[in-house]
Amino acid sequence: MIIEEQINQLREELRQHNYNYYVLDTPVISDYDFDIKLKELQRLEENYPEYYDPNSPTLRVGGAVTKNFETVIHDHRMYSLDNSYSKEDLLDWEKRIKKMVDGEVSYTCELKYDGASISLTYEEGLLVRAVTRGDGIQGDDVTTNIKTIKSVPLKLKGNFPAKFDIRGEIVLPYEGFAKMNSERIAAGEEPYMNPRNTASGSLKLQDSSEVAKRPLDCLLYNITGDRLGISTQFESLKMARAWGFKVPTESKQVNSIDEVLAYVTYWDSHRHNLPYETDGVVIKVNNIQQQEELGFTAKAPRWAMAYKFKAEQVFTHLYKITYQVGRTGAITPVANLEPVLLAGTTVKRASLHNADQIAKLDIREGDTVFVEKGGEIIPKIIGVDFQKRNQDSQPTQYITQCPECSAQLIRKEGEAQHYCPNYKGCPPQIIGRIQHYISRKAMDIEGLGGETVALLVNEKLIINYADLYELKKEEVIPLERMAEKSADNLIMGIEKSKEIPFERVLFALGIRYVGETVAKKLAKHYKTIDAIINATEEELVNVDEIGITIAQSVKEFFASEENRKLIYRLKNYGVQLEVSADKLANQTDTLKGQTFVVSGVFEKVSRNELKKMIEDNAGKVSSSISSKTSFVIAGANMGPSKLDKANKLAIPIISEDDFLAKIAQK
Ligand code: AMP
Ligand code: ZN
Repeated sequence: MIIEEQINQLREELRQHNYNYYVLDTPVISDYDFDIKLKELQRLEENYPEYYDPNSPTLRVGGAVTKNFETVIHDHRMYSLDNSYSKEDLLDWEKRIKKMVDGEVSYTCELKYDGASISLTYEEGLLVRAVTRGDGIQGDDVTTNIKTIKSVPLKLKGNFPAKFDIRGEIVLPYEGFAKMNSERIAAGEEPYMNPRNTASGSLKLQDSSEVAKRPLDCLLYNITGDRLGISTQFESLKMARAWGFKVPTESKQVNSIDEVLAYVTYWDSHRHNLPYETDGVVIKVNNIQQQEELGFTAKAPRWAMAYKFKAEQVFTHLYKITYQVGRTGAITPVANLEPVLLAGTTVKRASLHNADQIAKLDIREGDTVFVEKGGEIIPKIIGVDFQKRNQDSQPTQYITQCPECSAQLIRKEGEAQHYCPNYKGCPPQIIGRIQHYISRKAMDIEGLGGETVALLVNEKLIINYADLYELKKEEVIPLERMAEKSADNLIMGIEKSKEIPFERVLFALGIRYVGETVAKKLAKHYKTIDAIINATEEELVNVDEIGITIAQSVKEFFASEENRKLIYRLKNYGVQLEVSADKLANQTDTLKGQTFVVSGVFEKVSRNELKKMIEDNAGKVSSSISSKTSFVIAGANMGPSKLDKANKLAIPIISEDDFLAKIAQK
């Protein structure tokens, strides 16, 4: 098969699998097989740049960085929607409509997805542009970022118009949002407040590979264009679905306002089962010709109306404001409430976020407060009933000392949160760090749970994670809820943690901003803890994907005498503080200073293995040939353009065997 055909076929296949997975939610091949195919396509595209396609599935991983998003004027203005809150509002709207159009009116009811709106332009079935709503007249071109969202089709199927815009909402489903937050918390970072803001913030990230990592979704609801020959809104949704777009199937065609209300009532109570946030229902006149007759006001279409779900709200009593201290020392004020039923759950506590929030709401102990569960998953306090406030109530004085250790709190310039700086002596910080150390993604110590850690600390048996390795069975047995067997398990679990690979140990140390991914990067690059300790800030920043904040935090961590002592002890107990000998055995300096370009298909080892071998032996891998290239390792089907270039620059071309022989010499 000729290469071009092979490339096109792979692109087609991958597109279909993407569609099955992200739009239909019914994958037909394993993730592993998908990856193999994707890698194969990447390899071909790399070797045959002449077949570049801006809409290739390989571009989903992002990589392009945008410094300034270009402003684009919308071909068709992006309007807002009028809101209604009652049956009367809807009946008034119906009356206005019926005065302006002839004949029966039917409606399409859709859910109102709560995210960031986007306009996608397709020409000849290809995504050519994605623009944010902006002020409705012009928005920002965020095409590179949008292309990384897997449910946005880059190429359409079926019988689509030559040119049209389609509008939709970029949302961040709950599940992915929760996952992102648990990763942030594990890395000692502040969690995001709500999915909507996180989704809309994602669109303007400069690094598209960051966007690619976020589990965003795109839900479409409106086709716009000239003379598209579509007769109803409901039908247009079906068509969009057939072209490959993700169009939720909850929409419904109805014939009366009563039916609209039944739809609203149903979804008001069932929306919590949907995978993403919704904040209402959008009702649209179904017939497109009637829509055209109705037209637009200055701000919104006359043919559509939003009906906002009421955020569920209740009044309750604020007993007391308490303050929590996290493992990084961050202070969070918490409202302790008289228990009250809200959106199906009993609410007893709500976060007050920080000192500014308390001041803004002028909230005080003893107040009657308004609690709401709207978009946010966590209930929030939105206001105070000042009428009910006690005469002698006093403004809340935010604490100045840590509630747990009495240290003077600090607040860094530009940060909303107060911190307890008593890193060494503050119990929740001490306990939190050890809990993080033993957690599943870190050292995964079986037989030891968070509560036991607190118990061990409170009983003064341990004060840091290194102390775990000195614990004796006899010390543990007398603890509450401990027995011979559980004590054995605990000691065994701790012993086993000595086998946990370096990268996870590095994550377990609890360095702020060093999450799982960063830990992996650092471990791979430096290989030993000592190398990381000795690295300068500039060196750290030069490691792929390590920014200044992370570099500073790493330096700060190891600058502490205390922390270096801990590391020293861990090392002595046998915890893995360097990449294992097995892995290192294959590593040499043989190829130091040499740059390789790998091209073609190999017999004995895969392309990725080859690259790894080069890196393990201190060589560099580059994707394109230049005068700096030392060798080209050529397999079967090496790209003709590469061959040409290598010859022109007189770069030695070696075979797989030559290369293997080269590193065998070590
Ligand atoms: P608002 O921002 O409250 O003026 O509401 C208008 C916005 O609702 C539009 O800009 C869309 O982004 C969004 N929206 C969400 N779901 C839909 C839908 N099914 N139909 C139309 N607009 C929707
Ligand atoms: Zn403290």
